[in-house]
Amino acid sequence: MKAIQMVDLKSQYQKIKPEIDKRIGEVLESAAFINGSAVKSFQQNLEQYLAVKHVVPCGNGTDALQVALMALDLQPGDEVITTPFTFIATAEVVALLKLKTVFVDVDPDTFNMNPELIEQAITPKTKAIVPVHLFGQCCDMERIMEIAAKHNLYVIEDACQAIGADYTFKNGKTRKAGTIGQIGCTSFFPSKNLGCYGDGGAIFTNDDQLAEKMRGIVNHGMFVRYYHEMVGVNSRLDSIQAAVLDVKLPYLDEYNEKRRQLAQFYNKAFANQPKLTIPVTGEQTTHVFHQYTLKINGVDRETLIQKMNEAGIPVMIYYPVPLHLQKAFANVGGKRGDFPVTEALCDAVISLPMHSEMDEDQANHISTTLLKLV
Ligand SMILES: *Cc1c(COP(=O)(O)O)cnc(C)c1O
Repeated sequence: MKAIQMVDLKSQYQKIKPEIDKRIGEVLESAAFINGSAVKSFQQNLEQYLAVKHVVPCGNGTDALQVALMALDLQPGDEVITTPFTFIATAEVVALLKLKTVFVDVDPDTFNMNPELIEQAITPKTKAIVPVHLFGQCCDMERIMEIAAKHNLYVIEDACQAIGADYTFKNGKTRKAGTIGQIGCTSFFPSKNLGCYGDGGAIFTNDDQLAEKMRGIVNHGMFVRYYHEMVGVNSRLDSIQAAVLDVKLPYLDEYNEKRRQLAQFYNKAFANQPKLTIPVTGEQTTHVFHQYTLKINGVDRETLIQKMNEAGIPVMIYYPVPLHLQKAFANVGGKRGDFPVTEALCDAVISLPMHSEMDEDQANHISTTLLKLV
């Protein structure tokens, strides 16, 4: 049996190697490493895939979030509502821009922001909500968009883990993750569902003015060459990464389907084991399983992980420390007990290997080993 990895980028590359090598070779021959034709091509193909008017490519998912917030003209001290159960980047950029993060707790089943807690967190300083589509399924966007409209707030989706997921509104309209709020952000970090071979990211919007502004911000606040209208950043998707992504985009739905099939296999295997709680998918969203994350109860997590590792199975904890208890946010003033659902999840979750290249033997070995150890 091939060694089991959390993600298997090497096997995936081997299957598309001729196409990838050809497109990277073309960039090398053209020597247009920045803003080459591959960037434009990928941008347009992604716009079409997402059915969104504008894709603004940028350097990584963290920059995407930062640039989105910069485009809103917020004032220092303005408040941004998000979840403490996410990767640090979501709240890090809020702090960097001297804005204030206000956390709301998550739903214990879907792990996503609990919309029922948003309204009580809104103050006159609240300007935006940043829902995070954690592990690959969309937040309750219908409810979040209603609340945002009622209170005149922007919605910036952190869709870094959910590219390709579909959300269906009660009126039957379906939208891709990241294209529902005013702005959506994604990351092409290699292990994401659509990953490049280095760093990359993109911002989505249907708003012409926001798109124009964000295109300027990622390019040093420059709209006319060497005339800088505002302080921006340097954040680009380079041509080689765009070429890789342009090759991989047509496979995204297939990759996500393979992840879903593996999740179904795991779900079936673990369904009747009371010490394992399988992930729950929300009613209006599809799940692209960036991570397959279980809750364990009545089992010592450290020992379990150690024994799984000894059997050749990597297991990760996403995330061991909620953001309000991170040292970096000590001055934000969070304390244990503030967000009990998130805190309990951080103590109880494990994520199993999940990727498009897993074979049956590997999946069997993972499920039978876990069932034996709990
Ligand atoms: C990966 C990720 C990011 C950051 O993306 P980078 O490309 O690594 O900067 C932000 N938010 C979430 C939820 C992520 O998973």
